[in-house]
Amino acid sequence: MYEFAVTPAITQLRRPGVSISEVAPDSLAEELGLEVNDRIVRVNGRGVRDYLDFRFQTAGETEMELVVKKANGETWEVELEREEGEDFGLMFEQIVPRQCANECLFCFCKGNPEDARPSLFVRDEDVRLSFLYGNYTTLSSVTEDEMKRIVEQRLSPQYVSIHATDLKTRALLLGVDEKRADISDKIERLLANDIEIHAQVVLCPEINDGAILEKTLRDLAAHYPKVVSTAVVPVALTRYNTDERLTRVTPEFCRRTIKQVEKLQKEFRKNLGVTFAFLGDEIYIKAGENIPSRQHYGNYPQIEDGVGMIRSFTNSFESLIKKLQKAATSAVPADNSAAVVSPKNVRTHQSAIVPNERKPDKNQNGNPELLYGTILTGEMFAPILRGQIEKLNALLDSKLHVIAVPNTYFGGDVAVAGLLTGQDYVAVKDQIVGNFAIIPKHTIKSDEPILLDGMKLDDLKARFNVPIYDMDLQDLIDKILALAA
Ligand code: SF4
Repeated sequence: MYEFAVTPAITQLRRPGVSISEVAPDSLAEELGLEVNDRIVRVNGRGVRDYLDFRFQTAGETEMELVVKKANGETWEVELEREEGEDFGLMFEQIVPRQCANECLFCFCKGNPEDARPSLFVRDEDVRLSFLYGNYTTLSSVTEDEMKRIVEQRLSPQYVSIHATDLKTRALLLGVDEKRADISDKIERLLANDIEIHAQVVLCPEINDGAILEKTLRDLAAHYPKVVSTAVVPVALTRYNTDERLTRVTPEFCRRTIKQVEKLQKEFRKNLGVTFAFLGDEIYIKAGENIPSRQHYGNYPQIEDGVGMIRSFTNSFESLIKKLQKAATSAVPADNSAAVVSPKNVRTHQSAIVPNERKPDKNQNGNPELLYGTILTGEMFAPILRGQIEKLNALLDSKLHVIAVPNTYFGGDVAVAGLLTGQDYVAVKDQIVGNFAIIPKHTIKSDEPILLDGMKLDDLKARFNVPIYDMDLQDLIDKILALAA
């Protein structure tokens, strides 16, 4: 869900320049008299559109001239000198995303209930956010200015939804004409300018599977290493996706796809030295087949697309169990130094301004009863998590329970934890045992305590008889280690 990374476009007007959101005390910016809500509109005569422009235009410069629209309406021309590498001490407003011009058959907007909150209908497609946060774009409506900007400002890597290299199929999936769907020149131009690409295929049975999928993966692999990796993820249809051209993903379809892609992966590993084309975790789970090994995923280039997340988690958890076993036999207190840290946020670029994360609930720390409670997760992941938690319970004599929460809000094939809503949690509240419940952290907006169906976190908490904590898997592992110490 892209909307968590950005402020929805519909709430903001586009104005020239970039607005200052924070000025650090005793910083260069404070010394210059810059204040919150001032807008920097030009640097050395060049227009500034957003904070990426500001960083690009000031990088390496020690003398410069800024034009600043002050919050009080004045315009300032500020000449300054700074030490090499000296930071301004400024934070800026989030980027307002550009909207897509597609009508994808499987668009998540078409899978929302009619009364879903407005931000769930925002169709953002923005090459800046692709660079900063790893959001996928189709490049089908990217402008010449944006293409120039990617190259000039080295906005690499870009995450591109290819879906199919067969043009007719791509056009059908995007709901646009073939001319607009054809991005071959743009891809060539990016690769010729050493912009790396991570590709994605949303796999729709009977549309871009079989021979079309094989052609797509071979065409993309021909550009390795500039096309670094490709994720093949199954289309997820909610009960509101009623387009008859779409077919739901079945276990049999998943088994067939694994068989087909395994052959190609073998070939890619032999010829390229890497797996290159990765199947989404959901495909293995639906097929009832084992998740590939750690080596299969390399440095987990597509983990945030649900590719390798389960392998990463099970390896981390197994490492935790070993650590606890070792501590128990040697009577040395467990610490968390050996915890395997999941490769979190590998797609978020260091230049990205990440919205202020909500502070953890104070009650979450130091609670000795934290090992008797219930963990809520999606139906897809629950059996895997339950298997690991049972091992932990046997070792620590803890009483942690896992509940698979059905997604009644979106319905259909949606079984991932990340799309659970407030009303889904409320529907299982009578099954909670123990002193607390844990819900997946990423089901809550990162900069505001609200769930996908618009329910406020406080309202959710008020409906439960036990405290609710939001954690990601690494938080959970860290917490167990801390409590077991
Ligand atoms: S690119 Fe397609 S799936 Fe993405 S927001 Fe636009 S219409 Fe929806």
